[in-house]
Amino acid sequence: GYKRVLEENRKLYNQVQDLKGTIRVYCRVRPNFSGQSNSLSCVDHIDDTTITVIAPTKNGKEGRKSFTFNKIFGPSATQAEVFSDTQPLIRSVLDGFNVCIFAYGQTGSGKTHTMSGPKELTEEGLGVNYRALGDLFELSKQRKETISYEISVQMLEIYNEQVKDLLAADGTLLCSLTPHTLDIRNSSQNGINVPDAQLVPVLATSDVISLMNLGQKNRTVFSTAMNDRSSRSHSCLTVHVQGKDVTSGNIIHGSMHLVDLAGSERVDKSEVTGDRLKEAQHINKSLAALGDVIASLASKSSHVPYRNSKLTQLLQDSLGGQAKTLMFVHIAPEYEAHGETLSTLKFAERVATVDLGAAKVNKDNTEVKELKEQIASLKAALAAAR
Ligand code: ADP
Ligand code: MG
Repeated sequence: GYKRVLEENRKLYNQVQDLKGTIRVYCRVRPNFSGQSNSLSCVDHIDDTTITVIAPTKNGKEGRKSFTFNKIFGPSATQAEVFSDTQPLIRSVLDGFNVCIFAYGQTGSGKTHTMSGPKELTEEGLGVNYRALGDLFELSKQRKETISYEISVQMLEIYNEQVKDLLAADGTLLCSLTPHTLDIRNSSQNGINVPDAQLVPVLATSDVISLMNLGQKNRTVFSTAMNDRSSRSHSCLTVHVQGKDVTSGNIIHGSMHLVDLAGSERVDKSEVTGDRLKEAQHINKSLAALGDVIASLASKSSHVPYRNSKLTQLLQDSLGGQAKTLMFVHIAPEYEAHGETLSTLKFAERVATVDLGAAKVNKDNTEVKELKEQIASLKAALAAAR
């Protein structure tokens, strides 16, 4: 009986969390690419929620450190598995919630793989971006008798604290004429904070694929001078949803930001100069600002420092409050990556909200009673939130 009560309690707790502002952190470990099957890894152990990595101790000896997150996906996790846990979050966008999904990690750790997929896209390879939109299309069709939805997307890049439109019809022209930096305005009521960027209606996954290709092409145009700008800029696919109640005519807005962040690796300041140093400083600053914002939301701090970077300014309405945040933290498992892996996990640990889920098992009757009371209040909270 106790176990069932505990389970029911946890389920309700999760449902309430689904409705309120919450921050989840999922960790994904990509396959080891160092060649030999028996090659060393900096990941010592993983299970469903805990990852243990190599971490040198103070006296220089090799130690271990464990981190706990909402979920850990190992090297063999499929794109479909990774997506399945984000589905409820994505569906809430149609109910008028704002959602942010981030991919964080050093360059080469699998951020783009998770969000978009491998270079040669196959059905199974489709990343979170495509699956999320596919889900929204399907669900909006199911609801069309009651709510008529319009779904449109924007695709932006933030590079050196400048916002650019990846869906500008001709990126070449944009790039060669002026820097074309776009303004962020946080006051709009429809959630469109970059009104000057193209907003393109989409009806099916095929529309999304062609837009992503255009965005990718423009991104390549922007990067001609340097070889891989994509790892040093943030890219953000924003999905705007407007739903109109067929009978009452009431309108709701929801939005979802799918962000492939710049590589989090620290750049050795003694080795880089000029443009490269400037880029590194901008990246450090904006990732630190994102960390600060999420950490202050997680700790329910009264001041949230949104203004410290373009990234957090852009996402302001979708971070905190009733919004839902999910961070995919990516780990490269090769032994040589242990320094970056450790700092990535430390960043993630800082932004993760402490979970009530791991309630201790203690078969005490008073505790069962308390849990039952908690269930009643959670049920009430759930009903009120709906
Ligand atoms: P990032 O965007 O973080 O720089 P990528 O997503 O480009 O990294 O990943 C680097 C390489 O590793 C790519 O070739 C990618 O296809 C591959 N890769 C990443 N994650 C996985 C995974 N989970 N399974 C298989 N290959 C992966
Ligand atoms: Mg990438």
